[in-house]
Amino acid sequence: MAKRLVILGGGESGVGTAILGKKRGFEVFVSDFGKIKEIYKKVLLHHEIEWEDEGHTEAKILSADVVMKSPGIPEKAPLIVKLKEANVKVISEIEFASEYTEATIIGITGSNGKTTTASLSYALLKDELNVALGGNIGKSFAQLVAEDKNENYVLELSSFQLDGIETFRPHIAVLTNITPDHLDRYDYDFNKYIASKFRIAMNQTKEDFFIYDADDEVIGKWLSEHPIQSQLLPFSLDKKLDEGAYIENKNIIIKTKINSHTMPITNLQLTGNHNLKNAMAASTVATLLRIRKDTIRQSLESFQGVEHRLEKVLKINNVVYINDSKATNVNATFYALDSMESPTVWIVGGVDKGNEYEELLPLVNEKVKAIICLGVDNDKIIKAFGNVVDIMVETESMRDAVQVAYRLSEKGDTVLLSPACASFDLFENYEDRGRQFKEAVRNL
Ligand code: ADP
Repeated sequence: MAKRLVILGGGESGVGTAILGKKRGFEVFVSDFGKIKEIYKKVLLHHEIEWEDEGHTEAKILSADVVMKSPGIPEKAPLIVKLKEANVKVISEIEFASEYTEATIIGITGSNGKTTTASLSYALLKDELNVALGGNIGKSFAQLVAEDKNENYVLELSSFQLDGIETFRPHIAVLTNITPDHLDRYDYDFNKYIASKFRIAMNQTKEDFFIYDADDEVIGKWLSEHPIQSQLLPFSLDKKLDEGAYIENKNIIIKTKINSHTMPITNLQLTGNHNLKNAMAASTVATLLRIRKDTIRQSLESFQGVEHRLEKVLKINNVVYINDSKATNVNATFYALDSMESPTVWIVGGVDKGNEYEELLPLVNEKVKAIICLGVDNDKIIKAFGNVVDIMVETESMRDAVQVAYRLSEKGDTVLLSPACASFDLFENYEDRGRQFKEAVRNL
């Protein structure tokens, strides 16, 4: 008899798992507590997969042999607790999909820089390898495995996705950095969040590689207390390393057992120290996979970055407008401000996730000439920076914020949207916020 696979959540990873499960002979049922999007309903219908939305029918779920829980559903959700009490196996999409592929997996996680590093790694590999990009970005891993066309997968992985793995083993793992984020899902315990990120390496063996930011103290401390099996390849902005990647004389130096390369950084389109880190990580991945030096160099130089991440929008009256709407935490904004090279009018604010702004104070003091608050509640920002910046204006729409920025900026300045906060108070999501910014800039 076919095994019963129940999928909780009918989004990208749920629907991908449903397709893969059906293809592999499971009896599949998808259940979503909220509403399933029309496009996904059509896909489920097309594949003749049974589904329900706006509620869970417990009897149909508790009868599962295995349950795939979408990453958005917390471990503590009552239904998940019940399933575990009933000894039903609950896994993530990443775990499920990895059982059905022999391909080489490059897994990329971290608090910031996942999408950029994954997209850049993919760009460096794609000319020479049969490779797909997915996971937390674009198509789900399960969907890609169901399509069964690739020998290599570059996967962006969130901590939630890693929480549900048991045997998943990337041949190359990248950990970009760790700063407090999503702590509400980890009992407000930073150590639990760190442990979750390190799950990416838990099944690696000494044949595998672990690429990480050696300048990140959180990562360094954890590694010294919790050794891992795989071969360590650190990268650093300010230390010369025997193995790994570092910067010397405006070059990225990459040293691995497979090969060593020197890449000039002067022609990179990506800006900012954080992007140098991302470039070091991605170049190390490409070197391990034997991509030729010229290919790495050319692809590094042509990579434009990803939308909403320090994206240059327009130059108007010699003022550059930059969209960094994806900066939803303080650390991302730190690197945005750090990369500013001219007086900056900074648009900031939104839904605060327990932000501590102190670490931004020196940068703000040095670079920011005016702050435009864009949020429903701006008290914390005003308190944090009121003494450092003379001009502070509160706005409640992107149009107003951009028009105020236009009035306050002078020739040679930069207008930077880097909110350090989530977007849900005034926008649908960070993409919506970024698009509204770009539209308002174009309408100036
Ligand atoms: P993620 O997928 O982890 O959210 P993104 O690549 O989408 O990461 O970038 C999110 C935000 O973090 C952007 O504002 C970007 O400029 C910033 N960022 C990118 N790489 C790094 C990094 N290595 N360290 C800190 N911030 C970064």
